[in-house]
This record gives sequence, C-alpha cells and structure tokens, in this order.
Amino acid sequence: MEMAAREFQATEELRRDFIANISHDMKTPLTVIKMYAEMIQSISGDNPEKRQEHLEHILREAESLSEFINNSIDLARLQSKTWELKRAGFDIRHLIQSTVELFEIHKELEGFLIFVEAEEGLLAFADRNLISRVLNNLISNAIKFTADKKQIDVRAVKRHGRILVSVKDYGQGIAEEQLPYVWNRYYRVNPHEKNKSGTGLGLHIVKEIIELHGGNYGVESRQGQGSTFWFEVYAWKDRYT
Ligand code: ADP
Repeated sequence: MEMAAREFQATEELRRDFIANISHDMKTPLTVIKMYAEMIQSISGDNPEKRQEHLEHILREAESLSEFINNSIDLARLQSKTWELKRAGFDIRHLIQSTVELFEIHKELEGFLIFVEAEEGLLAFADRNLISRVLNNLISNAIKFTADKKQIDVRAVKRHGRILVSVKDYGQGIAEEQLPYVWNRYYRVNPHEKNKSGTGLGLHIVKEIIELHGGNYGVESRQGQGSTFWFEVYAWKDRYT
C-alpha cells in the first residue's frame, strides 16, 4: 500500500514536471509562429517574397516544436516506471546500416560521407528500437555540428562481452569544461547558434536509454577537431549462452 502510494506520488511529480517543462518550452516557438502568421495576415500577404520568408520562419518553428514535443514524450515515457525494455538479439551492423540510410539526404545534398565499420555477425542483446534512437540522435548531432570535414565514422567492436559503438565526427568539438554537462536535460553549448535548431534533449535521451540497459556511455572531444560519442550494449552470446 505504502509502495503504491509512493509510486503514485512519483508518477504525479513526473507528470507535473513534464507539464511545467512542456508549457514553458512551447511558449516561445508558439509566440514566434503567431507573430509571423499575423505579419502575413496584415503585411506580407500580397508580397510573395516576404510571404515566403515569413512562411519559412513558421515552418522552422513548427518543426522544432514538433521535435521538442516528440522528445519530451519519449523522455517522460522512458522515465516512467512503467517502461519495459523489449530486449532481443539483433545484428548491430544491420541496425547501424539501416539507421545510416535515414541520413541519405545529407549524403546526397550536403556531401556527407558516413563510414560504417563493424564486424560481421556481431549480435547485441538490447531494445532494438531504442538503440536505433540512440544512433539516430548521435548521428544527427554529428551532422549538425560539423562544418567542413563532412565525414562521420560509425564503429562497433566487441569488448569484454559487450559491444562498443562509437560515432566520430571531425566538427567543432566541445570545450573540456562543457563536456560533463552535455548529457543534462535542455543543455546546449551555444543555445543561440544560428541555423542550429535543437532542444537540448537528444543526449539526455541517449543517457536515459543506455542507463536503462545498464550500459556505459561517454564522449571524447577536442575543440575544433571533433567529437567521439560512444556507448556499450551487451553482446548476445556472452551474456546468454
Ligand atoms: P541539441 O542537439 O538538441 O542541441 P543534444 O542534447 O543532442 O541537444 O546536445 C546537447 C549539446 O551538446 C548540443 O547543443 C551541442 O552544443 C553539444 N553537442 C552534441 N553533439 C555534438 C557534436 N557531435 N559536436 C559538437 N557539439 C555537440
């Protein structure tokens, strides 16, 4: 009974926290959307060029709002006690390759090269969808924070019964003093950086997912040289035969 009450209280706190965060963070983009819609209505409606510009602002804000809401929902679900990991054995190389395929557009339009290096037949034991989510977040960050050297190396190797997966970029890197904070909820090194949308939730989600799996994770980075984000999952064979 007491335990049920405590759980109820924890869920209530999560719910309150979630609603407070969501409503705070939705306000700014909604204000911007409303402002540009009003501008189209009263000023730029008959001016195709200006109208286009204002519509682009609306679209960008709407996109980041939807990203934010999706991330917040995932996070709330991950942190709720009801989340159940759907662990199964799967080929990590296949998963990496199918996740990398989602970034085809960046390869075609922006000239990114994404190299995959993973042993054949390396089986992980984890929640496939969630690990795909982790890879997705890490690769999209690598793309977002890379300027000139548009190369990303995704590797998977077996190490002491676990699989170590890393995503390396050659982009702007992160200063040493900022490194410990990048996993925090809402943390962004340069929140006002131009043309870089973001919610500061991506790495926090990565952290939550890997912690749920009982794995390790980390980052090595040098400013101006690039970053390597890594995580570990259990290898299927060593753990279960
Ligand atoms: P978001 O990408 O939405 O800003 P994240 O939680 O994914 O949020 O990342 C937090 C911050 O960590 C980013 O805003 C950025 O400053 C820094 N960061 C993450 N990945 C990289 C990377 N590959 N290179 C440089 N900085 C990064």
